[in-house]
Amino acid sequence: MSKTRIASEIDFEKEGKHSGYLRLPHSVHRSAYGWIGIPITCIKNGSGPTVLLVAGNHGDEYEGQVTLMKLTRKLGVDDVKGRIIILSSANFPAAMAGMRTSPIDEGNLNRSFPGDPNGRPTQMIAHYIESVLLPMADAALDLHSGGSSLMYIPSALARRPKDAKKRAQTIELFRIFGAPISMFFDMPQGEDRTLSGGTERVGVKLHMSTELGGTGTVTPAILAIVEAGVARLLDHFGVLRRPLTDAKPGKTRLVAVKGAPYYCYSPDAGLFEPFVDLGAEVKAGQPAGAVHYQDQPWREPTIARFEHGGLVICKRIPGKVERGDCIFHLGTDSEDA
Ligand SMILES: [Zn+2]
Repeated sequence: MSKTRIASEIDFEKEGKHSGYLRLPHSVHRSAYGWIGIPITCIKNGSGPTVLLVAGNHGDEYEGQVTLMKLTRKLGVDDVKGRIIILSSANFPAAMAGMRTSPIDEGNLNRSFPGDPNGRPTQMIAHYIESVLLPMADAALDLHSGGSSLMYIPSALARRPKDAKKRAQTIELFRIFGAPISMFFDMPQGEDRTLSGGTERVGVKLHMSTELGGTGTVTPAILAIVEAGVARLLDHFGVLRRPLTDAKPGKTRLVAVKGAPYYCYSPDAGLFEPFVDLGAEVKAGQPAGAVHYQDQPWREPTIARFEHGGLVICKRIPGKVERGDCIFHLGTDSEDA
């Protein structure tokens, strides 16, 4: 893998708390020798593990970004044993635009790994994370949520490790994070162009992701879950000198999210009327909702059906749908529970 063209203003080997920018070269009409500054903080205090905290991988997923911005200000050198690196808005151009993807290159960071040092800005960011940040990390958290179009029951998430010992370690992370749902996820078509895929390629020992809510907003209840969950995980990773919270984790339900039948898609374009809400238990073949035609109100709506039974863990928020939009997403009780 060739070398990154992104230059860090901070030295990750230096003791103390340092904040600055990753300088992403961006030569454009209005700024020939310009760069985009991606904020990053490194807190290092003696020997110990390195933990990488990432949010804003998708720019419109705000719960993780708020949590990591607060943590950036809160954590002092004296709190840390080892090193914590915080990248609170990883796809920074997308985060500033409040969009899932980058307005500069339409790049979806979490479909851009392992990235390209000579590629478009989003590919360069992915390459920096995979070639520079992940190799330093003993543990990594990548905080996602439903973003603008989806709402999840607050969930922890990881690809299901094939190795039983690794699986038990991941379930332990889920239990410590303490979200209402924890998911073992099979990405459709084995998708590995993600940061999670990068942690596996690089061999980061402990990794977890989340789906924390969404709707393009934040709520006090969900922030309380993620802030306490991240604090407990930092303690578990052994990178804190003292716990940041004494809040106990909530009980989590371990579910499996497997392939395509677990996703329910809109069969047509129109105005979607859901028949169930988050947390519903549904059966295979059950009507999921109706697509109404505003331009032909006399026409019978088209009914969407669940292909698989399970627990509704995610729903689409905007009422207007196109054919192929994901309207619900299901989990079923995991065989590992
Ligand atoms: Zn995301």
